[in-house]
Amino acid sequence: MNRPTKQQLDSCRAALVEALGSDALKSDPDALSDYGRDESDLGTTPADLVVLPRTTAEVSRVLKIAREHRVPVTPCGARSGKSGGSMPVHGGIVLTLERMNAIKEISTEDLVAVVEPGVVTGDLMKAVEAKGLFYPPDPNSWGWCTLGGNIAENAGGPRALKYGVTREYVLGMEWVMPDGEVLRVGRRTIKGVAGYDLVGLLVGSEGTLGIATEITLQLLPLPREVQTALLVFSDVRQAARAVSAILAAGVLPRTLELMDDLAVKAVDGKGFNFPPETGACVLAEVDGNVPEAVFGELARLGEIAEQHGAKETWLAQDEGQREKLWAARRTVSIALRGLAKHKLSEDLVVPRSRIPEMIDRCKAIGQALGLTVATYGHAGDGNLHANILFESADERPKVDEALRQMAVVAIELGGTITGEHGIGVAKKDLLPLEQAPAVLALQRKLKQVFDPEGFMNPGKFLPD
Ligand SMILES: Cc1cc2nc3c(=O)[nH]c(=O)nc-3n(C[C@H](O)[C@H](O)[C@H](O)COP(=O)(O)OP(=O)(O)OC[C@H]3O[C@@H](n4cnc5c(N)ncnc54)[C@H](O)[C@@H]3O)c2cc1C
Repeated sequence: MNRPTKQQLDSCRAALVEALGSDALKSDPDALSDYGRDESDLGTTPADLVVLPRTTAEVSRVLKIAREHRVPVTPCGARSGKSGGSMPVHGGIVLTLERMNAIKEISTEDLVAVVEPGVVTGDLMKAVEAKGLFYPPDPNSWGWCTLGGNIAENAGGPRALKYGVTREYVLGMEWVMPDGEVLRVGRRTIKGVAGYDLVGLLVGSEGTLGIATEITLQLLPLPREVQTALLVFSDVRQAARAVSAILAAGVLPRTLELMDDLAVKAVDGKGFNFPPETGACVLAEVDGNVPEAVFGELARLGEIAEQHGAKETWLAQDEGQREKLWAARRTVSIALRGLAKHKLSEDLVVPRSRIPEMIDRCKAIGQALGLTVATYGHAGDGNLHANILFESADERPKVDEALRQMAVVAIELGGTITGEHGIGVAKKDLLPLEQAPAVLALQRKLKQVFDPEGFMNPGKFLPD
């Protein structure tokens, strides 16, 4: 797809101002550049126009006007994405849902919440917890990412180990098709099997099949007891083996988050001091309703970890200590940028029993190519973030080769190239490594049904 011409953009802008008012548009160079990047470290592809609708009707109007003027549209939430999904790689409009940020309903009777897509995930988590309810999906960016972005990426998080990912909690949606038609898909009930599972298809569609403007989410009762421990190891392989052993023993904590020596180094002393000589650690959390049972499960987990080399187990004594530990974990991705000039991250998943082997092979790939590889992530569900740290942009071809080799290994071990960050721009060339031509062709046909002219988030997801 070609970038829109100045003439197309001028007439599109005029129509948008007439329909939404000039305060719904931004076109100053700083804004165009800000909305042209996310957290993927893929640089900036500036937007031509940023549009901030306030209602579903306005979203629909924007899409209709954009189509009339043949201008591409890229939806965005908080731009915390790590695969370039919200980057307007072919220019045109960035449609941000940030003004649609109302929590419309929290029902304690039906255990559902109805939200607009621009609600920050952490705001919903806190609002439902105040009513004794629980929204489990907890991407580590929950303090700023949005539910619309979570739906589009089918976001996971540490608690996915026990509670699953975003898809498990989306019951229904109001959905604006690329041509502006407004649909309701799904339902408000826990059960319901009428028709094809369109919600299942649209969750994870990375802004390429339309825009979520209202989301009905399933909630759970809030577990009354949560206990958190830090398991300290000398070496990441040992820690990974302990994770496998804990799960094989039939213990199901809600999180088992792994950090290697580089990840620990990146965050150590910035709010939380790790024990000296920490070579790797696992952040384990158990929840339930009976304190003794929760503590019993955590103690069993600690014993297994010690049998597999944990040299220390540190139990958070109160909410303050717990929060400091989690704050350290949440900042790993950004803090690793402090260790080198450039960073690119992988988001691989392997069957959990293969995590130790995956770590070994990622480190070996790095070593063979002379690159530093940091590993951390949601080890309990097999989702490993391998981050390549490098100093000079000249090393980029080597880095791309390392990322490709790691993806090949993940697939060889029975895994996938992305567990939660999505394909976006970052991984579209790697998708054929995992999916057969017939599967790619079927997805191309699906895209064609939803968006025959290809204006919705072009340049993403499927290889050219
Ligand atoms: C420090 C850090 C930690 C992270 N930890 C995790 C983690 O633990 N788990 C995880 O899964 N991810 C994680 N992420 C990645 C990121 O936060 C998630 O992908 C998140 O879901 C993106 O939400 P967003 O609102 O920022 O969306 P954006 O980045 O703005 O957009 C992401 C995609 O969603 C589309 N989109 C946005 N809103 C809509 C909508 N309403 N309708 C249709 N499409 C839409 C966009 O077009 C784009 O393709 C992390 C990122 C950072 C920076």
